[in-house]
Amino acid sequence: MRRLPAEWEPQSGVMLTWPHADSPWADQLDRVEALYAALAAMKWPRRRTTTPEKRPMLKPLQQLCLAVTLPLALCAQAAEDADTLYQISTIDALLAGVYDGVATVGDALKHGDFGLGTFEALDGELLVLDGIVYQAAADGQVREMPPETATPFVAVTAFATDLTLTPPGPQGYGAFKDWLEAKLPSHNIAYAIRVDGQFASVTYRSVPRQEKPYPSLLEASKQQRVFQQTEITGTLIGFWCPSFTKGVNVPGFHLHFLSEDHSHAGHVLDFELTAGSAQLDLTNGWDILLPMNPAFLATDLGEDRSAALHSVEQRKSGR
Ligand SMILES: [Zn+2]
Repeated sequence: MRRLPAEWEPQSGVMLTWPHADSPWADQLDRVEALYAALAAMKWPRRRTTTPEKRPMLKPLQQLCLAVTLPLALCAQAAEDADTLYQISTIDALLAGVYDGVATVGDALKHGDFGLGTFEALDGELLVLDGIVYQAAADGQVREMPPETATPFVAVTAFATDLTLTPPGPQGYGAFKDWLEAKLPSHNIAYAIRVDGQFASVTYRSVPRQEKPYPSLLEASKQQRVFQQTEITGTLIGFWCPSFTKGVNVPGFHLHFLSEDHSHAGHVLDFELTAGSAQLDLTNGWDILLPMNPAFLATDLGEDRSAALHSVEQRKSGR
C-alpha cells in the first residue's frame, strides 16, 4: 500500500490534478490547464513529468490533494525559479531623451543572454539572442557588438523555456497578440518571448544615432527607417510585461526581429507569421538599475508618457 506523505515530510514528487470537462469547474479549465502546464514546465529539481489518463471523476481524496499540493507547488516555484528580468533605466527615461550610456552591453550580458534595448545616442535597435548582442542600425546593417558598447536602456533575462506554444495557423501581429495573451497563465508577471518561425512578411524599423541636445524619442522616431522583408525565416525576441509596469517598461508586447541569416533586424511594427513556435520564459523577478547620470536624475519622470509610447511603438511611417 502506498500512502501520501504529509506536507512537512520529504517529498518524492508533487501531484497536480484538475477536473475534467464534465465537472462543475468546466468553465475554468482553460485557465487551470494553462497555469498547470506552466507549473509543470518550471525548473524543478530532478523534474520528471508524467501525465496519467483522464479519470472519470475526482474523488474527495484527490480534491484534498489538489488543495494541499497547489500551495506547495507555488512556494516551491518561488524558491526554485530565479528568473529575473534585468533592465537598465526605464522606458519613460528613454522617451524623455535620456540616451547617455549607463553601462556596457557586457555588463548586461552578466544578467542574461536574451533581450532588447538600444545603444548610446539611440544608435539603432539592440537585440540579444543566445548571448550575442546585435545592432540593427538605421542603415539596414546588422552587426555583432563588442562588450564595451554603451547602452542607455536594455532589458535581458537568462532565457530558459517554461512553456512552448504553437500558433494554430498563420497569424498577423494583432491576432498573434490576442492568441498569446489568452494563453498566458497570468497577466501579473513578465514573460520573455522567443518565436522561431517562417514569416510571409515582417515590417520593422530602426532609429538613427542622435546628437545632443537629444530630442525626445517621439521626435527621434520621426527619423526612423522602416523596412519590410517577405518570405523570411527568423526569430522574434522580446517581452510581454504587465500593465502595472507602465513607465518602467513597455506594457504588453515589445518584440524585435532577427532574420535567421542575421542580415535583417529591427523593432517589430507588424508581421504575418506563417508557421512557428513560441517559447515563453516566465519571469517573476525584476531588477532595475537606475542611471546615476545628470540627464536621468534631472528629468521629470512624473509625466504620463503612454500616448507617446504608443505612437513610438507602432508608428509605421518614417524616412
Ligand atoms: Zn524596440
